[in-house]
Amino acid sequence: MLTETMREELKCLEAQLVDFRRDLHMHPELLYEEDRTREKIIAWLKDCGLEIQTGVGQLFHKGVVATLRGGRPGKTILLRADIDALPIQDMKQVPYRSQVAGKMHACGHDLHTTALLGAARVLAAHRDEVPGTVRFVFEPSEENGLPDGTGGIRSGGLDLVLDGVCDGVDLAFALHTNSEIDSGTILLFEKEALSASSSFKVTFHGRAGHSSAPQIARDAVLMGAEYITASYLMMNRCFDPRESNVLTYCTIEGGDAINVIADRCHITGKFRCFDQELRKVIWQKLRDLGENVAQRWEGSFVMEEPTDGTLATINTPEGVEAVARAAARVLGGENVVRTTKPAMCSEDFSYYLDRVGGAMFMLGTANREKGIFQPLHSALYDVDEDAIVLGSQIMAGVVFAANGD
Ligand SMILES: [Zn+2]
Ligand SMILES: [Zn+2]
Repeated sequence: MLTETMREELKCLEAQLVDFRRDLHMHPELLYEEDRTREKIIAWLKDCGLEIQTGVGQLFHKGVVATLRGGRPGKTILLRADIDALPIQDMKQVPYRSQVAGKMHACGHDLHTTALLGAARVLAAHRDEVPGTVRFVFEPSEENGLPDGTGGIRSGGLDLVLDGVCDGVDLAFALHTNSEIDSGTILLFEKEALSASSSFKVTFHGRAGHSSAPQIARDAVLMGAEYITASYLMMNRCFDPRESNVLTYCTIEGGDAINVIADRCHITGKFRCFDQELRKVIWQKLRDLGENVAQRWEGSFVMEEPTDGTLATINTPEGVEAVARAAARVLGGENVVRTTKPAMCSEDFSYYLDRVGGAMFMLGTANREKGIFQPLHSALYDVDEDAIVLGSQIMAGVVFAANGD
């Protein structure tokens, strides 16, 4: 079990961890360009005396993995932090606001990285007491990916998993900051944690004409409007209401003039669900519906750029119990909120949990008294820094809890 000594040591590290997080916050780096961040991580890990592997990743070679071989027999536990920032202009008025125009740690990955480095420091210092092997994984490019050369997009998580980062691992764990829950609490998903996401673009082609003579033209805006409402109804009426899914259209564009019937209508959409089979059925129904609508109004339909994003993140019972035990020791059982309601956003930690058991949980980082409650990906996003040490303590503690300690 994470001992009182280890907890105290982490508490003593707090000022150093806060400085580290603020430094990352001031110098955010985007997907696969996290060179400065990586150098800082490597320097810290070296100082902890850990075995370090750099250049990890099948295609982009940007991951950092550190290994700790404990002094007692036990499982191989993977702990993951993502390290990238977002293309958002930081609008906060704090001394540690982003120094890089248009880039910001608006998803808390600076905290994820710092908390895991804190855990690495204390576990390395108590190597003889640690069971099994701990693999600390620092993942680039979680927020987005780059083309993989075969028509797909590859984010950091998938790149690392394809390079074997989960090989030989028994359980994998990750945390994510959450500004909807208070610092000092966690949200733990019993099974489904975060959804899979898929995105697409559709185009209806019609025939332009005078706005006074619709009988001659073929109205593409009408086709688009019907498609949007019909597909929302389809999602509501064609699928088991016990299975979560959500479809959203965020852009629509068509036509050139106020008195000309549009010959085309472009729409972009995104849907999320938890089941791979359901994902395939939704795809097929969206295609069929578009073709039916176009046929009815004598136009044509094209589905462009249909892309499956990350998988659904599904926690396993063993992983959930380990987090629950570790977090209850740090926060008290009443501050470990367990839920069967998943979040409908997505995370590429899903690729790890597709290979091995484990869990992802939400670390509360809101503090209304300090005015910290802005949502993730907002230009005012910040975290309550008191949560950093708590994150470190839980991540270190989960290594013991996962081994039954
Ligand atoms: Zn994010
Ligand atoms: Zn994130």
